[in-house]
Amino acid sequence: MHHKSLTELANALRSGEFSSEELTQHYLQRIKQYDKHLNSFITVSSEEALKQAKAADAMLQSGKGGPITGIPIAHKDIFCTAGIKTSCGSKMLDNFTAPYDATVVTRFKTAGAVILGKTNMDEFAMGSSNETSFYGPVKNPWDHDRVPGGSSGGSAAAVAAKLAPVATGTDTGGSIRQPAALCGITGLKPTYGRVSRYGMIAFASSLDQAGPMAHTAADVALLLNTMAGFDKQDSTSVEQTVPDYTALLEKDITGIKIGLPKEYFNETLSPNIAAVIENAIKEFEHLGAQIREISLPNTALAVPTYYVVAPAECSSNLSRYDGARFGYRCKNPKDILDLYCRSRGEGFGSEVKRRILIGTYVLSAGYYDAYYLKAQKLRRLISNDFKQAFTEVDVIMSPTSPTPAFRIGEKANDPVSMYLADIYTIGVNLAGLPAISIPTGFTDKLPIGLQIIGNYFCEAKLLNMAHRYQQITDWHNKTPVGY
Ligand code: GLN
Repeated sequence: MHHKSLTELANALRSGEFSSEELTQHYLQRIKQYDKHLNSFITVSSEEALKQAKAADAMLQSGKGGPITGIPIAHKDIFCTAGIKTSCGSKMLDNFTAPYDATVVTRFKTAGAVILGKTNMDEFAMGSSNETSFYGPVKNPWDHDRVPGGSSGGSAAAVAAKLAPVATGTDTGGSIRQPAALCGITGLKPTYGRVSRYGMIAFASSLDQAGPMAHTAADVALLLNTMAGFDKQDSTSVEQTVPDYTALLEKDITGIKIGLPKEYFNETLSPNIAAVIENAIKEFEHLGAQIREISLPNTALAVPTYYVVAPAECSSNLSRYDGARFGYRCKNPKDILDLYCRSRGEGFGSEVKRRILIGTYVLSAGYYDAYYLKAQKLRRLISNDFKQAFTEVDVIMSPTSPTPAFRIGEKANDPVSMYLADIYTIGVNLAGLPAISIPTGFTDKLPIGLQIIGNYFCEAKLLNMAHRYQQITDWHNKTPVGY
């Protein structure tokens, strides 16, 4: 069962080949068998899942179900789920059960999906390796000594190892695309505002966006159909009609103009990755696309700009964890100041503290203009580079990550080298654009991802390009040995 795509699973459920309860049992069994090695789940909600599966079976039998009805899904532990713990990978929220569901969760519930559990992640989504999680690192199913990427590493590993057919993730600077690339799956970061952020624990509100993770672009399209759309509970959600993302998958891509930014394909890119990406681009040429070199002149500023803007917003968002209202509270506080200091000191891990310190510093009265305001101006220049590029080409292609999955511990003590893992993904979040990562090959038996960036609200075009590529290649069908 677990080798079927979402579309195939949906057909099998509808034709009665197996029930949602049987399918759910099958995945719960796989989680039990394999997740002790992978650590991709923080919480497995077996009881809740089986209850939802029975309800989905009833819905399917009455002929009311849609394409998602009865499909098991894993949600990143950043989405609030009523009655199921939401930890955000942090000791701070280890005891937190939300009283309500995030809009993304509600939409999947309404569509009849079954929640298998909540996946492991970097603490408060800060990281590129899943090593900052309070619940320990996740292992990459392709090589257990290596990271799955982050911060949605639990979702990526669970889908790659087929412990869940599909999952949700969030992407603030690359956290859907980079783990998707490192685990050999497909992941889409939608346009900022396309998917509701309501009930999604905030890291950097002007950058955070939820998106789907699955094996194929066709599966991602089905998930996005469920997730996307206006939500009046999120003031940055955009009121724009949601197309049927599956409708354009088969469209001919002859004549599509693909831009290759010269700043991305330079000597810092590993030759092994460059070779894999070049092969992928040749396949697109066979499909009729035209290739052009373009320039994104401010590329080198993306990482430094992000690491001012994101910590600034994080320091403000995380000020709500004060030990007074919810989350971790220190034992026997002497007074209110001791309560704040020790609850935050004991509840947050070191990467989160580093971000809060940087963020507070760049927002402080004396340094605001020099750092935060400057970063906002650079953010505009970076967006303008993309705007200019999209007057010349339809999509932009690049590697998703400059390296394949690195070893656990390899970069843990070197934050700057970790931050550079996001060099190709971060500009997209600063500009608010959509981008997808798809599997395109291997180097040293480790998967490599190709990133396709589109103009605002052009998710359907990205899915169309990715789907056409997946029709003529089979990288997305590879399974790690032992799973
Ligand atoms: N790796 C980036 C960071 O640590 C992005 C994380 C994310 O997208 N949530 O901030």
